[in-house]
Amino acid sequence: MGNQGIISCYTLQSRIESLQKLNTEKLNIVVIGAGASGLAFALECIQLGVEVRIIDKRVSRSTTGKATGVALGTWNQLKKFGISSENIAAAIPMRNFVFHDDGKLVANIFVPSLNDHPPAHLYPQSLLEQQMEKALNIRGVLVEYGTGISHFESIDKIVRVTLQKGATIHSEKIEVDWLIGADGAHSTVRNIAKLPFIGRDYPEKWSVAEIKTDLWPNDVQAQLFLQSNGVGLFLSQPTKGIVQGILNSPEVVDKLKDKFPDASILYSREFSVSLRRVSTPRVGRVWLIGDAAHVQSPVGGQGLNLAIWDGITLAESLLADKFDVEQRLIKKAKKVLLFTDFDYRMLASRSVILRSSRNWFWSVAAKYPIIAKWFFKLISGV
Ligand SMILES: Cc1cc2nc3c(=O)[nH]c(=O)nc-3n(C[C@H](O)[C@H](O)[C@H](O)COP(=O)(O)OP(=O)(O)OC[C@H]3O[C@@H](n4cnc5c(N)ncnc54)[C@H](O)[C@@H]3O)c2cc1C
Repeated sequence: MGNQGIISCYTLQSRIESLQKLNTEKLNIVVIGAGASGLAFALECIQLGVEVRIIDKRVSRSTTGKATGVALGTWNQLKKFGISSENIAAAIPMRNFVFHDDGKLVANIFVPSLNDHPPAHLYPQSLLEQQMEKALNIRGVLVEYGTGISHFESIDKIVRVTLQKGATIHSEKIEVDWLIGADGAHSTVRNIAKLPFIGRDYPEKWSVAEIKTDLWPNDVQAQLFLQSNGVGLFLSQPTKGIVQGILNSPEVVDKLKDKFPDASILYSREFSVSLRRVSTPRVGRVWLIGDAAHVQSPVGGQGLNLAIWDGITLAESLLADKFDVEQRLIKKAKKVLLFTDFDYRMLASRSVILRSSRNWFWSVAAKYPIIAKWFFKLISGV
């Protein structure tokens, strides 16, 4: 038996032990927020035989475009719930990435495979979340929409939570063993816990839009158009015939119309970007995961992937009484924030020296894919 066999036997054994333990001890867990991090946490709980409630203040799932890149590490984690890139015909493998600076082609990068798999697939976050919610429904858990949290207090080993339902503000008081704040960047759980969100805001206004077009080149999955003034346009194709543009400036729609004269705009919006995290994701029996615990720039495509990693990792460890998970969550968030900030600084740099070293690196990486491998390995999360 190879190492992998030993590891999976070990994992199976420890899962069985945690399940046996949990059968004697009924836990009450409520997850606030049914985005990627909350769904991932709930799925892992159910997989381990632990019941969970999951609520969301929205009346239904959002279909607004956010992330378009799903990393290999994320697919690996979701496989046990029946969600895999192999089963989803619409997931587009990341094979080619084209990079321009001031209108000139810098590199056409053939994205290297990792263990015979592409490091990421293009697939819209909203569809991935739909798949995760469906997997949860099949396992008997329904997201309680139209339900928010208004208050909680920790008393000894329980958390008393007040939920708010519907427009009439009907409230429900419950007692839980664990409260999971997966309620996004403006987290109510984080605010009630009075946890500072340390970091800074990027000064630029960003914009995102999606268009329908027939002019996207078939053999490319992502394109980057940088400029010496620091403005960068990132284009990707989350679904055949649809292109998403993200710009670190408000005029993404104009840029898309310039590049795709046949564009019909599906939606557009402005947003701001921050680099912030909580110093610890845990206060007593309350945990924060996903954007509630850390936010970063969309450059490097890490937010969705980290949110899912947080959810699954926390559920696995919490249910097995492995509290070193607090440090693991902190370490991973720090690493991702550093990486995305570095990436953004490099892409938006106006320094002639930095821009030429960056362009030189990518033009060499385009010729020798082995050089690009470390970067795509980081993105892949494996
Ligand atoms: C334009 C854009 C592009 C991006 N591109 C990428 C990318 O390519 N790759 C990538 O990995 N990431 C990307 N991201 C980041 C990614 O979208 C987020 O990191 C991810 O959505 C975080 O998931 P989450 O579950 O933590 O939070 P969210 O997705 O924000 O979900 C939080 C949920 O909590 C609910 N909620 C909020 N408050 C309450 C409350 N009080 N009570 C009950 N429910 C509540 C909300 O309704 C929501 O459903 C992008 C983000 C943006 C904006």
